[in-house]
Amino acid sequence: MTLAAEPMQAPATSTPSCCTRESLIKIPYPDPPTLHLPYLTESEIRSRRSSRQPSRSSSPAPSTILQSDLSNLARNTQIDVRLLAEIMVHLAQIPTDREISAPLVNGLEKVKFEDADEDTLTASVYGSRYAAEDLPKFEMPEREMPKEVAYRMIKDDLTLDGTPTLNLASFVTTYMEDEAEKLMTECFSKNFIDYEEYPVSADIQNRCVSMIAKLFNIPTSDENSNAMGTSTIGSSEAIMLAVLAMKKLWQNKRKAEGKPFDRPNIIMNSAVQVCWEKAARYFDVEERYVYCTAERYVIDPKQAVDLIDENTIGICAILGTTYTGEYEDVKAINDLLIQRNIDVPIHVDAASGGFVAPFINPGLLWDFRLEKVVSINVSGHKYGLVYPGVGWVVWRDPKFLPKELIFNINYLGADQASFTLNFSRGASQIIGQYYQLIRLGKHGYRSIMLNLTRTADYLAANLEQLGFIVMSQKGGRGLPLVACRLDPSKEKAYDEFAIAHQLRERGWVVPAYTMAPHCDQLKLMRVVVREDFTRSRCDALIADFKLACQTLDSMDDKKIEEHKEHFKHMRRHATRTGRHHRMNSHFSDETHSLQGKTGKTHAIC
Ligand SMILES: *Cc1c(COP(=O)(O)O)cnc(C)c1O
Repeated sequence: MTLAAEPMQAPATSTPSCCTRESLIKIPYPDPPTLHLPYLTESEIRSRRSSRQPSRSSSPAPSTILQSDLSNLARNTQIDVRLLAEIMVHLAQIPTDREISAPLVNGLEKVKFEDADEDTLTASVYGSRYAAEDLPKFEMPEREMPKEVAYRMIKDDLTLDGTPTLNLASFVTTYMEDEAEKLMTECFSKNFIDYEEYPVSADIQNRCVSMIAKLFNIPTSDENSNAMGTSTIGSSEAIMLAVLAMKKLWQNKRKAEGKPFDRPNIIMNSAVQVCWEKAARYFDVEERYVYCTAERYVIDPKQAVDLIDENTIGICAILGTTYTGEYEDVKAINDLLIQRNIDVPIHVDAASGGFVAPFINPGLLWDFRLEKVVSINVSGHKYGLVYPGVGWVVWRDPKFLPKELIFNINYLGADQASFTLNFSRGASQIIGQYYQLIRLGKHGYRSIMLNLTRTADYLAANLEQLGFIVMSQKGGRGLPLVACRLDPSKEKAYDEFAIAHQLRERGWVVPAYTMAPHCDQLKLMRVVVREDFTRSRCDALIADFKLACQTLDSMDDKKIEEHKEHFKHMRRHATRTGRHHRMNSHFSDETHSLQGKTGKTHAIC
């Protein structure tokens, strides 16, 4: 492993004087690679460090950079820095004044660039002074800018984002019909929580809840019991609500029995999506993991049930894990609970599988047909075919929803029962979901899911032919995705991350991951087959996979090492802000999560 220096982390002594505010000039050049800084291999670093060459210490910049990076290296040996940075990017860090004023390129401080002319009313976007300045990034500008300019500048800025349709990392919907988009746009200004003002939107939500609950085979024959459900921002919020309900239910039972109720735990696979870790952490529930092995990436039902004790609030089973898309054996867990007469509920995380299995695999028993399943979540914005963010959660019976969690909101005069973490939210996504449900019907969803399953099988067969080991299920026994890895017996000099990078150069986003803990740090790549991934696009991807492997095969070890460095560097500098590389270093050394502790990288979903 070699290191590229992060200029912002070098101490002040190594900062050239041109970084002071007075000498700053603004030149909107793109972020340059830090070519003037050395790349060092790990062994070079070690040998330099151990010999502490005096000649190096007389040249301050490289040695200080070396040290700061070494401490980084030490901190981060378990963590893929880039992935961590990607995860942390939403928790933004406010840059310091010095970071803001640091120039992009050293050595240009003497050059004078004159300000562009004042605007006239007829100035074109690119003839205006706005085109000659950097976009405001750190402080709100004092004055307005024309709307055409603001639109164009931001649109141009966004062109360096990836193309959503080539992003094969994500389950989240990237295509909806024009009519759906139109409908959703027309509802942008509706606040969904405002039931009184928008009663039809509220009713549309209820229609969706009912359709989804029935898709999951909710029993509706009992006159005295009404299943319940709600829309959410996504499966994460849905799962938070489900965990809260299970926790409260358990606490109430313990209180009634006069027993301690302060140490709840929840049982789940170590390959859970990060929102389960969050839910457990945020709501003070101990996480009990059933670990994957190098051969098994789903929960072991017996191990899961064996972990239960009097403090267990529930078991999570995943219908479609994010790594390999496999369905966990909910029925086996259910049957073990019945067999052992254990009163612990199952929640099924069907974020991805909830809109796939009912159409492709209707005979699979995973839903409310199993008596121990008390709640199920699904993401409307994954195979529910709606743009982000909408999710759903359904409970078998109101008795699983402790009353103290439900708020009757009297909003502008109308009473509504509400169980959500958010208050205000847009109504568009819910209306988009209703559109898809009635526009496509069961037949439409089935046609789409069948095509995706065929495409996934076709891709898997081709990748096997290219020498990859396919780790996902075929023939609709799991989600329509292909998870694969290199065959270790072929002893390639490169890894899955290198292939991912080669594909990236062609525009494809195919992520590489390190598996959940206890899997020998197994690496894998994953292609999610979404609605807009047709056979012809699949063929284009296969051709590029082939090309990527050929290119890497033709490189010798030294070249591969350089290649690795190059893409690490490129990833680290993926934001063009230039002055603000660090994303969020305050939290980059967290060690409480599975990622921080074990090097597991959370799959994008
Ligand atoms: C995507 C996903 C989540 C999180 O869902 P969001 O809708 O993105 O909040 C949770 N669990 C699984 C299995 C997922 O695939």
